[in-house]
Amino acid sequence: MTQATNNISKLVLATGNLGKISEMQALLKDLNIEVSPQSDFSVLECPEPYFTFIENALAKARHASRITGHPALADDSGLCVTALQGSPGVLSARYACENKHDEKSDSANNAKLLQVLVNEDNRQAYYYCIMVLVRHADDPQPLISEGVWTGEILLEARGDGGFGYDPLFLDDKTGQTAAELSSAIKNRISHRGQALHKLLLKLESIQHD
Ligand code: IMP
Repeated sequence: MTQATNNISKLVLATGNLGKISEMQALLKDLNIEVSPQSDFSVLECPEPYFTFIENALAKARHASRITGHPALADDSGLCVTALQGSPGVLSARYACENKHDEKSDSANNAKLLQVLVNEDNRQAYYYCIMVLVRHADDPQPLISEGVWTGEILLEARGDGGFGYDPLFLDDKTGQTAAELSSAIKNRISHRGQALHKLLLKLESIQHD
């Protein structure tokens, strides 16, 4: 697909999630691009009303780009549990919320997940991330990539790093939870790391057109 050339020197991260911001900043630090969170421009979190990751990611990227006037990068991500038919999925951040006014809480989400899976033997799960970069708010050709990180849900939390469901998410290959891995290793193997890596390859190819 032909893609309009557009060298990007500044990029807004379309998220208010501090865990995601620090991971994305670490993953982007070697690029010659100034990266700022949307909070630097007083952009508030955008509603995520959709049932698919891609629609929510696009909405967040367009929202941040429209308000700031800069290219914007958004991820929409979540934990998908096989025995729960992919739940909590797009609702991962607000899994334990009973109504829309409830505060998001990682510890309440983790407690709910353990409770829902209490009698479940199939603990398979994966993190999914879709990453979207728009060069301007109405960009008709956003750059899009995805990443999947497979693992399983433990019976109890382990580790202090990361955020969200990381203390419950066991990486099959290392035998450590995402909260026990160093941030450098998590960033290399995670759903977000994979998606961002693929997106940067696409970005590089259009920057050099
Ligand atoms: P989003 O901000 O709507 O994309 O929601 C993402 C939610 O998915 C987070 O708030 C976490 O609950 C979960 N999640 C996504 N990525 C991760 C991760 O790397 N570790 C732990 N939880 C994650």
